[in-house]
Amino acid sequence: MIDLKQYEIWFVTGSQHLYGQETLEQVAAHSREIAVALCASVYMPVKVVFKPLLTTPDAIRDLCLEANSAKNCIGLITWMHTFSPAKMWIAGLTSLKKPFAHLHTQYNREIPWSEIDMNFMNLNQAAHGDREFGFICSRLRLERKVVVGHWQDAEVQSELGRWARAVAAWADWQGAKVARFGDNMRDVAVTEGDKVQAQIQFGYDVYGYGVGDLVKAVNDASDAEINQMTQAYLDEYDVTAVLRHGGERNTSLCEGARIEVGMRNFLTAGNFKAFTTTFEDLHGLTQLPGLAVQRLMRDGYGFGAEGDWKTAALVRAMKVMADGMPGGVSFMEDYTYHYSATGDRVLGAHMLEVCESIAKPGVKPKLDILPLSIGGKSDPIRLIFDANIGQAIVTSIMDMGQRFRMVANVVDVVQIEQPLPKLPVAHALWLPRPNLKTAAASWIYAGGAHHTSFSYAVSAEQLHDFAEIAGIEFLLIDENTQVQNFKEKLRWNDMSYQISKGI
Ligand code: MN
Repeated sequence: MIDLKQYEIWFVTGSQHLYGQETLEQVAAHSREIAVALCASVYMPVKVVFKPLLTTPDAIRDLCLEANSAKNCIGLITWMHTFSPAKMWIAGLTSLKKPFAHLHTQYNREIPWSEIDMNFMNLNQAAHGDREFGFICSRLRLERKVVVGHWQDAEVQSELGRWARAVAAWADWQGAKVARFGDNMRDVAVTEGDKVQAQIQFGYDVYGYGVGDLVKAVNDASDAEINQMTQAYLDEYDVTAVLRHGGERNTSLCEGARIEVGMRNFLTAGNFKAFTTTFEDLHGLTQLPGLAVQRLMRDGYGFGAEGDWKTAALVRAMKVMADGMPGGVSFMEDYTYHYSATGDRVLGAHMLEVCESIAKPGVKPKLDILPLSIGGKSDPIRLIFDANIGQAIVTSIMDMGQRFRMVANVVDVVQIEQPLPKLPVAHALWLPRPNLKTAAASWIYAGGAHHTSFSYAVSAEQLHDFAEIAGIEFLLIDENTQVQNFKEKLRWNDMSYQISKGI
């Protein structure tokens, strides 16, 4: 359900007429070569499309307006091979509604020491041409990504590719629909927020449904669909004996499959990209959806529990950023701590809904049935597994009243120290950076939520790029974080976000 190759980023080179036709033709040829190389790069998940050289204010404005209305165009990469006087860019850049990266590169890697002459100097001017362009972007206070380095370098291509993934996630949010089955978990604050402001700022729309609408789709699931689904479970998972055919709880497996079929049909028919559930509103459903949610997340849907639509949308955005990359993305919650002399750890999990894309590879997740002890429904079926080991990031978005804030913490997922035979849910154990004491204090001062989107594939830089495109605050907690500095940053940001509205 995620297809990054449908998207285009346009490669746009600015120049002017002063240099003469011959130089402009060379600029265009070089520019095309760079666009083709970026498009072919293994790091680039979307198409990069070369656009004709821009040398006049009208052409620049026309290109920006065309980019705004082109459905598949999600952003621009700009480059000034020669000098392009930046007053020419004002009309275009002030009209542009799509994100852009400024690639500060030059065609040649090294100075041709024995050959360099004035013709070469006239052609290869990015070192100052890009500074003129940078000035007008800063003067206009435009958010953009600046990437510096030679265009053939893996690091530069990879930086642009990661940015393109953040841009794709942004494009994916525009017009996206989030289905909300039931409302918020009663009295919970952080999962609430201003949905109208979210739509204005983020572009996605949250559609509320009574759980009865979902129940109807679940009841409409056909026997053939349910059989096909239970067969998929038996093929893909280590299914506990009581749930198998002839087992005393096989009915629960079939009920779980019925819920998944109904949810899938509902979400597909409505063209939704993310959804929420709440255990406080399950009238007519036999179980809290567990396995169904886990599998829908695996297939690319965003999810938030207890009505958490902001996290549902964020999980979806990170699924788009991570598409085709190793490592997964899941809804997550800081569940419980392990204070230890060798480093305080967090056990992350949820009641049921952890995505199997983060599971340790090579081990079939266990499909089991156990009591939930909350919600007053039948025991739900769920996948149980250990998460993969490695560096990951947890992220949340909160509505702070005057603005949205994104906070992220880089963590290191480590081996579970001892077997957890009675823990009935999928889980990850991690050391937050720089340590739990600093990370948790900073997170709490920032008002960070207990729900997060967790990923091995998405980087802090990508989230920062994404937050800047969205125009929201970004706070990172990592190995460099100190609580006092972090608190001061919170104060400065409060001021900055108030003042910047007036600039
Ligand atoms: Mn929760």
